Amino acid sequence: IIQAQIRGLVKKYGKVVAINGLDLDINKGEMLSIVGPSGCGKSTLLSCIAGLEKPNDGEIAIDDELVFSTDRNCFKSPDKRQIGFVFQNYALWPHKSVFENVAYPLRIRKKCKYLIKNEVERALSIVRLLGKERQYPYELSGGQQQRVALARALIMKPKLLLLDEPLSNLDAKLREDMQYEIKRIQKDMEITIIHVTHDQYEAMGISDRIAVMNRGKLIQVGTPKELYEHP
Ligand code: ADP
Ligand code: ADP
Repeated sequence: IIQAQIRGLVKKYGKVVAINGLDLDINKGEMLSIVGPSGCGKSTLLSCIAGLEKPNDGEIAIDDELVFSTDRNCFKSPDKRQIGFVFQNYALWPHKSVFENVAYPLRIRKKCKYLIKNEVERALSIVRLLGKERQYPYELSGGQQQRVALARALIMKPKLLLLDEPLSNLDAKLREDMQYEIKRIQKDMEITIIHVTHDQYEAMGISDRIAVMNRGKLIQVGTPKELYEHP
């Protein structure tokens, strides 16, 4: 079953062609890692899927529903896409508690406080941070902060979770723990994940399939075995 479909995607920043005619199918429930050198367009691709950037051409469908299409003149805003994301540049809010950081997507949707309390507790228990509700980001370790960001992304029960270098600021041990956590969450919640990394070893350890990107295009897609064990 296909969760998301990308066809002929193009995104330019002035003269820079960040995405240059990209096609990709993402399977339901899989963890797909996107690897490639710095500047090849990985973050831009996630931003286009999330709706944070408007592509110049092509089509993006999620669960058979168009969220972007130049031909049909369709562009759905991020909050209409049921996508969760953890991007490095969308950090936690320093002046909000852990509870309020995680609750934020529900607050802006004017959910009632009982539902919010339940859902925040559920999300914090998934990332194993129950009991930290009243703390502030600066009181937490880097790994805990990233788990808070993950809880905030999971609270809307997204169909699709986008992770942009979510482990890059962590030390080796913590990175390994978080890989395991993310894998567990993917299985427990039956969630589809697209994960961007420049670290091919991280991708091999964590993903069902790997897409190799270069200069705004995909040059290879396959399982870690297909890509790295049979040259
Ligand atoms: P990656 O995530 O693989 O490092 P990016 O998607 O961040 O690559 O960038 C792809 C290309 O688009 C790069 O050449 C980058 O300089 C350019 N780019 C990305 N974002 C912007 C922006 N907001 N304005 C101008 N150029 C950008
Ligand atoms: P409030 O004044 O309601 O406490 P903030 O001062 O935290 O809200 O944020 C003001 C606005 O800035 C928010 O409504 C939000 O749109 C935007 N914003 C701030 N930080 C972030 C972030 N990390 N991610 C996304 N949006 C943010």
